[in-house]
Amino acid sequence: MNAIPLVDLAAQQAEISEEVMAGLSEVFATTSFIGGKPVGEFELAYAEATGAAHCVGVANGTDAVELALRGVGVTAGGEVILPANTFIATAEAVSRIGAVPVLVDVDDEHLLIDPDLIAAAITDKTQAVVPVHLFGQVAPVERVLAVVGDVPVVEDAAQSQGATRFGRFAGSLAAAAGTSFYPGKNLGAAGDAGAVTTQDADLAARVRLIANHGSARKYDHEVVGMNSRLDTVQAVVLNAKLKRLATWNTWRREAADRYSALLADVEGVRVPRSAEGNVDVWHLYVVRVQDRDAVLRRLNEAGVGAGIHYPVPLHLTRAYASLGLGPGSFPVAERSASEILSLPLYPHITEAQQVQVVEALRAALDATP
Ligand SMILES: *Cc1c(COP(=O)(O)O)cnc(C)c1O
Repeated sequence: MNAIPLVDLAAQQAEISEEVMAGLSEVFATTSFIGGKPVGEFELAYAEATGAAHCVGVANGTDAVELALRGVGVTAGGEVILPANTFIATAEAVSRIGAVPVLVDVDDEHLLIDPDLIAAAITDKTQAVVPVHLFGQVAPVERVLAVVGDVPVVEDAAQSQGATRFGRFAGSLAAAAGTSFYPGKNLGAAGDAGAVTTQDADLAARVRLIANHGSARKYDHEVVGMNSRLDTVQAVVLNAKLKRLATWNTWRREAADRYSALLADVEGVRVPRSAEGNVDVWHLYVVRVQDRDAVLRRLNEAGVGAGIHYPVPLHLTRAYASLGLGPGSFPVAERSASEILSLPLYPHITEAQQVQVVEALRAALDATP
């Protein structure tokens, strides 16, 4: 049996190779490595694809979330509410500003921030709330907006390029959004890249200013900024992939449906389901099982590159021990962390590969007492 990786980008690369090579030749010929034509083209195209009025390309997704937060006014000493189970970058973006991540638990069905728990976490220091569109879902942003009053909401849209909720795209649903084009994301660059999207022209200008050394005009530094720009080489790759994103997301959805059908009669597996109103883009296909570590080990031994997203909720990482939140603080996030299992999923995965994954999972479950 052939090994099946968690993510296989080779087929994506093959599809875009010619277009990318032509684009790169032009970049090298013109040596416009920073802010070249492909950057502006991508920003326009990605804004359009996201239904956002503005897109600012930046260096990576962590910077994108940080810049979106700074754009809505988050400052040192402030508090930012986010879910306890997300990639650590969401919290890092807050900490790097000097603000404090305030964690809340997630809902058991979708593992997305639980809007019912947000009100109790709001204080007079709260400067933003960050729903994370985990696994390619879209968090219930409208319910978050309904409970936060005047507090700005910033989406972490790193796992949800192309996903919609009640017909509107992730990344266009709140004050601003940060997204990541890390290679394994649904829209992935050939290295690090990210973007901030927003409907607000002033916010977009502020983000662009901060991301470019605090200056709109060369050597006129209005604020202490940073260097976080989308480089031209990455923009060439992203332009080529963006044209195929909708198709690739459709293939992901088809693969997810296929998994759910194949797993329907496998006992001991809880399969993921889209929330009402969502058209998810299945960045990850995350099932839940008991004795997850043993099942995962057996899957890996059988050549199936399953993974865990994420094994440790933020408050239990060593990095965030300083929050002083021990085990028991967020029961749903903690329990799910020991059950979640991400099965291989990428646009070009074949039915035969998925059958092999499901048979390996069945065998792993049978072998686990
Ligand atoms: C990938 C990711 C990020 C950070 O993106 P980078 O480009 O790796 O910095 C932030 N939040 C979430 C939820 C992510 O999955």
